[in-house]
Amino acid sequence: MFSYRHAFHAGNHADVLKHIALLATLRHLQHKDGGLLLVDTHAGAGLYRLDHEQARTSGEAARGVGTLWQAAARAQAARAALPAAVQDYIDRLLELNPGGVLRHYPGSPALLQALLRPQDRLTLFELHPTDARLLDRTVRGWLARTPRPAIDLRRVDGFDGLRALLPPPSRRALVLIDPSYELKADYSRVAAVLADALRRLAVGCYVVWYPVIGRSQAHSLPKRLRALAQRAQRPWLQAELNVGARPDPAAKAAAARGRPATELRASGVFVVNPPHTLVTQLREALPWVLAALRQGVGAQWSVQTAAD
Ligand code: SAM
Repeated sequence: MFSYRHAFHAGNHADVLKHIALLATLRHLQHKDGGLLLVDTHAGAGLYRLDHEQARTSGEAARGVGTLWQAAARAQAARAALPAAVQDYIDRLLELNPGGVLRHYPGSPALLQALLRPQDRLTLFELHPTDARLLDRTVRGWLARTPRPAIDLRRVDGFDGLRALLPPPSRRALVLIDPSYELKADYSRVAAVLADALRRLAVGCYVVWYPVIGRSQAHSLPKRLRALAQRAQRPWLQAELNVGARPDPAAKAAAARGRPATELRASGVFVVNPPHTLVTQLREALPWVLAALRQGVGAQWSVQTAAD
């Protein structure tokens, strides 16, 4: 426990997929005026430096958001339009990096707080002592600039903490469930917390991120999530992005530098009660994202819904 630090992975292809889906979902939910409860059960540090040692050591952000950022700049120079969901993500990055050099990366707390309206509130859970301290400092900065404090950071278990928040009085909620899956138990806990959340607020919008790896718990998680959504008779959407295996020389060089030769190739997001616009937005966005981030053999994307 606590060996995972998101700073090594912030801005990788998995974050690109998750954050594009999260932003597109929130944008749609905010078409209605009613106040939203936003919850990030596994928040991380909130903001990341891409020019600091952790991001530079792993190189994951350079191959993820860094590559996407360059592709977006080339498209802009050629006056080619980006898919709307990608453009929104790039615009959020530009807000943090107004000089045009990508140094700062917004984690999910930063993306959510940037869009917070006066009627919304945001609750963040983070257990890692260092990341919770960093997040606390960042949240204090946001609150100092926000007239009405609506952000709440809790240094407790996010799986347990979510229960007490549902249902909110407005009966409108967007919940991101994004564990590090450092513990095998996380897979079962994700399924259990979603089942419980659907009992408490069947109409809530739940976004679950998961890794696509060769571990039996990981393999069965999306199937378990589908079964839960179907049992609750709620619509769902499942999107996956596989950037493919890097060519051997690159993997060997990574191993020589002391990093695992194989890094995460694929991940997915499972959304219960997705906005009806999300399927079209992701089917437009993911081919573009994959064309930018493709690393090698096996690269592919998919978006499936209950209606397919
Ligand atoms: N949601 C973040 C984002 O998109 O920017 C990334 C979160 S990272 C994948 C997972 C985080 O969950 C880590 O910072 C880890 O310390 C934290 N964590 C692990 N187990 C936890 C738990 N049971 N409750 C709350 N936080 C936890």
